[in-house]
Order: sequence, then structure tokens, then C-alpha cells
Amino acid sequence: MALAQAAAEEARAAGEVPVGAVLVRGDEVIATGFNHPIGSHDPSAHAEMVALRAAARSLENYRLPGCELYVTLEPCLMCAGALMHARIARVVFGARDPKTGACGSVVDAFANPQLNHHTTVSGGVLEAECGAALRSFFAERRRASREARAAARGESGEKITAEARGKAAEQAGHAAVEPAANTATPSSSEPPSTTPL
Ligand SMILES: [Zn+2]
Repeated sequence: MALAQAAAEEARAAGEVPVGAVLVRGDEVIATGFNHPIGSHDPSAHAEMVALRAAARSLENYRLPGCELYVTLEPCLMCAGALMHARIARVVFGARDPKTGACGSVVDAFANPQLNHHTTVSGGVLEAECGAALRSFFAERRRASREARAAARGESGEKITAEARGKAAEQAGHAAVEPAANTATPSSSEPPSTTPL
């Protein structure tokens, strides 16, 4: 799982949701993969899919019996399906995914014996660490987005205060004072004052 966590950090470095996967056979690491659907313009570029593709190419076999996949986040339905097709023996995942998890959180694809005869699943391994990596990513993204919005408001506010400062300087005949921080224009998210009730 530590290798999967390291792969997840590669996804983070690429600006993608940090999920990593490692495919092993016994003690041998066959392939690793990290989530990068945005950069690759590929909705299927989840960490598990990337690791599966690389492993299948490496072993020159579309089926990977006897292999185990470690992934930092509960696989989605797409990845669960691919893991079944590849006849993966065991899936070990870290954090649970209450939105798209297909190993019990939303659906339990592997529990259906008509779909799956091959794969055992262990969830919640290093769950706290794997979950913390994802939470810190989303917290950082929200912070960056807040800062970008604040910067955009600050720029538009700066133009207005620069004009006001010029006028004030003309009138007072001395150097302008620092503008107040709260003189930015109203947020575009505020409803217009003419909205009928
Ligand atoms: Zn997936």
C-alpha cells in the first residue's frame, strides 16, 4: 500500500485527484498506476486501469490470475468491472468512497457471484492515511479557488480605488492613502438589487 500511496502523490503532483495503484504477483511488483483522467483526456485513466493496462502489457496476457491490486481508494464500477475481466485474485483498497465506491460503499459488485468468481476484496487498509491524502488535496484545491476569487475581486477593486485615490489626491493635494481592503466591487454571486421578489 505504501507504493500505491507513492503513486497517488504522482497524481497530486500532476494536479489530479491523488489515487495510486500497484499490481503485484507474490512479492513482485508488476506495474503501478496513478489517476490522471484530466491530463490524458481519458475518463478511464483511473489508477487501477492504468496499472492493469501496464501489467497486462508487461505479462503479455489480458488476464492476470494470481495477481493482487492495491489501491488507495475504493474502486469505482468501471474499475471493478475491469478487475473482474482481468481475473485479479485480490483487491486491497484504502479509503472508502461514499460517492462512487463499488466494493460496498455504493454498490458491491464483487459480492455478486453471478458477476464474480475470482476476486476477494479487503477494504479500509491504511484507511486514515489514504483518506487524509485525498482530504488534503480537496482542501488545498478549495483554498486555491478561494484565493483566486479573492485575487480577482482585489484586482477589480484596485482599479476603482486607484481612481478614487487619484481624485482624493487632487482634492486634498497630498499623497493618497492606502485603500481599505474592503473596497472591492461586490461579488458577482450576489443577486442584483433589481431582482423582483
Ligand atoms: Zn475507477
